[in-house]
Amino acid sequence: MPELPEVETVKAALDDAVKGKTIHHIITSGKNMRWPIPSDLEKRINGALITHVRRRAKYILMEMKTQKQDLCLILHLGMSGSVRIYPESITDIIPKKHDHLIIGCRDSHQSGHKHGHITAVLNDPRRFGGVALIPADAVDAHPLIKNLGPEPLGNQWNGDALHAAITTRQAPIKSVLLDQHVVAGIGNIYASEALYLAGITPRRKASRISKAKANDLTRSVRQVLEKAIAAGGTSLRDHVQPGGEIGYFAQQLHVYGREGKPCHYCAKPIKMIRQSGRASFYCSQCQR
Ligand SMILES: [Zn+2]
Repeated sequence: MPELPEVETVKAALDDAVKGKTIHHIITSGKNMRWPIPSDLEKRINGALITHVRRRAKYILMEMKTQKQDLCLILHLGMSGSVRIYPESITDIIPKKHDHLIIGCRDSHQSGHKHGHITAVLNDPRRFGGVALIPADAVDAHPLIKNLGPEPLGNQWNGDALHAAITTRQAPIKSVLLDQHVVAGIGNIYASEALYLAGITPRRKASRISKAKANDLTRSVRQVLEKAIAAGGTSLRDHVQPGGEIGYFAQQLHVYGREGKPCHYCAKPIKMIRQSGRASFYCSQCQR
């Protein structure tokens, strides 16, 4: 499942590829994703100028201007979504199975030929992702967005903020870290990794985390996310390649998926437990 660093990587690649370009053709699969793709999508965004692409939690927000109004196309990758970017015209792309949205863009000032074309494709076999189009000024109030907690890489998020958000929570810290109201966009892999770096067992009650430990934890969360984003960035160099899928990259993980393997620090076997139905990996020696 794409987590925040993967979404950030896809966002950066999209921004790089389509910013300043104009949408000139849209193809949709006609299938429902988590909710239906708007049937009038092409009519509403054909001719729109893409001003930039940004991210909130795990949502990719493609901001655009039309003659009538400023719009935002929300893309969510769900469980199995991915994006492909081609330096080719949409008419040259052969759609693959599970392509649900294909956006053809070209340089705004160029009328002719294939020069300046970019085609972005959203593929999602399991269709837990989604596409929504809303007025740009309605993003913060949108039901998908409005209740999200702070961005873990944002300036407002620190140990004090985390401590205040979890001090009354009796659930284990691992489950609380996955709560999108507490902090936005942290998934199962990076929650396990951050707790390992902070030396906190995933079983610890959130309310029993001190301010100092909350501070360690926010730093660890940033560290694992930034490292993963940097790894994604290096894999991005050639992202505009025919058929080149972006957004997934090999990562060095300390605990996630390493049950029974030796801890990188103390060599004790990594343990796996289930919490709220999700797997948590940790070292019982290094994490207390
Ligand atoms: Zn250890």
